[in-house]
Amino acid sequence: MAEQQIYDVIIVGGGPAGLTATIYAMRAAMKTVLIERGVAGGQVAASDSIENYPGFEFITGFDLSQKFMQHAQSYQPDVLRREVVTIDPGLDHHRVHLDNGDVLEGHAVILAAGGTPRKLEVPGEDTNYGKGVSYCATCDGFFFRNKTVAVVGGGDTALEEALYLAKLADKVYLAHRRDAFRGSRILQKRVFDECKIEVLWNTVVTAIRSNDQGVTGALLLNTQTHSERELTVDGVFVFVGFTPSNHLVPQGIKMNAQGYVVTDEKCETAIPGLYVVGDLRQKFARQIVIAASDGCIAALAAAHYVESQKARTATCGLPRESV
Ligand code: NAP
Repeated sequence: MAEQQIYDVIIVGGGPAGLTATIYAMRAAMKTVLIERGVAGGQVAASDSIENYPGFEFITGFDLSQKFMQHAQSYQPDVLRREVVTIDPGLDHHRVHLDNGDVLEGHAVILAAGGTPRKLEVPGEDTNYGKGVSYCATCDGFFFRNKTVAVVGGGDTALEEALYLAKLADKVYLAHRRDAFRGSRILQKRVFDECKIEVLWNTVVTAIRSNDQGVTGALLLNTQTHSERELTVDGVFVFVGFTPSNHLVPQGIKMNAQGYVVTDEKCETAIPGLYVVGDLRQKFARQIVIAASDGCIAALAAAHYVESQKARTATCGLPRESV
């Protein structure tokens, strides 16, 4: 029987963390495969403007993610456009199962699966998705030129996207559940200076109203006065945080109460050779530069790990050729 060939490292997810891991893995001469199910760049690709990635005073998320991808591809890693369905850890090497039934084997796996936008979980949200409810201003803002929209949330994403929408829409209501924003001061100042944005403090959306044409309004509840009112809007943009994509995390790996994976300083989990990087990993702040840093650390750590694994299996008389 032909000896089965294995990758040095399998990288799952093509956002900033996964692409940086790919660059460092290839530079460490590891046989590397990058698996990405959608558009490379992850969440960043949908961001209108990036102003805090060093070296770029301003760049769109799409352009930055293209640069990451081009840089990674310049080293010619294997790239698969597929969905990973499970990761099956092993002692000698790990198995990654794909949606087409293929199984890849790797000494190390770097999981950079990121996450998805959190929902409001209110009536009318799911049914109006794509008909006025959106989680991406850059993708859908164009449809709301000269219209009125509500943005929900108080973090960096909500503030950035409200500012973006103010360039297109006639009026932007920014509904936040507290009386202070979580987002950065510089974005807060821009929001307060933008006359098209009206901030609705202490306000939650309890339902999204619609007719056959799409969204017509949002039912608002003031958390201080408990008064309710319907706001007439053409669209509702929801930016209330992030849900980590932890469905591929194998059993036995520690996650915190919010579902983020706990790793050591090398981004390694309790399973040797299995690393978690980027927005899926528990950390103080979620920034592109931090995701990239995770990818670098994990790839360098994986290179050491793979080398020691190969040395170990060779001395145990179980040599296995890499691909
Ligand atoms: P976030 O920082 O977690 O903020 C989520 C916001 O939504 C908070 O204001 C939160 O309110 C509110 N919220 C949560 N659940 C809600 C609900 N059910 N109903 C109404 N409001 C709700 O999320 P994010 O803004 O997506 O940012 C995620 C991470 O990416 C952050 O670390 C952020 O700094 C980073 N980021 C950075 C940049 C940048 O630097 N350019 C851009 C975008 C994102 P409370 O404040 O009351 O909890």
